[in-house]
Amino acid sequence: DLVTPENSCPYEELEPLLARIRRQNEERQKNEKMRREFSANVSHELKTPLTSISGYAELMKDGMVQPGDVPVFAEKIYKEAARLIGLVNDIIKISRLDERKVGVEKEPVDLYQMAEDVCSRLDTVAARYDVSLDFSGKPVTVQGVHQMIDELFYNLCENAIKYNHPGGKVHVSIDKFMDRARIIVEDTGIGISKEHQDRVFERFYRVDKSHSRQTGGTGLGLAIVKHVVEYHDGKITLESEEGKGTKITVLL
Ligand code: ADP
Repeated sequence: DLVTPENSCPYEELEPLLARIRRQNEERQKNEKMRREFSANVSHELKTPLTSISGYAELMKDGMVQPGDVPVFAEKIYKEAARLIGLVNDIIKISRLDERKVGVEKEPVDLYQMAEDVCSRLDTVAARYDVSLDFSGKPVTVQGVHQMIDELFYNLCENAIKYNHPGGKVHVSIDKFMDRARIIVEDTGIGISKEHQDRVFERFYRVDKSHSRQTGGTGLGLAIVKHVVEYHDGKITLESEEGKGTKITVLL
């Protein structure tokens, strides 16, 4: 409301109000900056695979590819398109989370059963990376959004497999800790150095872009995980040692 001489208040009362307005402005500017950066990143990330696809297709169209090499180029186009689809899916997911569009009712979610389900869905991926994946614990139920927690599990386990060494291990455990449900995903993989540990939860942040590209990463997986944890008023911690492995603990 506008301040007039009649409704103006003493400075001591005005100051907290001004401080609040300043805080709100800062918050708004920060969100605006994040949105702008996100759009710029999205455009860049989408352009990369699209440029490859159009380049390969152009070569084929112009007859620059030996007939015997056509399957090789088709495979490249297929892979880039698959990457594009993954990226678009992740961008849609994160935008929905941003807008709190997933305003779905929370329901009882059995974390143990979910871990079992996610591990079995990731069986073939683990086999491809020559990584053994197992889980332990007991049935623990939390109030949550099924689809979101499933996403959290999947992203954490998939990372633990992808950023592992051949012959490495991934262990998922579910239990209760101080009245909360605790999920631990532990791997014997490449680890994350100290300087990157805080940043891996940022959107599009990847420690090693070329490795991540090889493994089909988008840099959005952990940002989605962080969102899901916040949505459920949970807590996430990361402990990692380069070359030794990573342990991610989520309390819900
Ligand atoms: P991406 O799609 O690239 O996997 P994420 O947001 O899931 O994106 O992870 C961000 C980055 O954090 C990854 O690119 C990788 O460098 C690093 N990272 C994530 N999980 C692990 C892990 N378990 N071990 C080692 N590095 C990891």
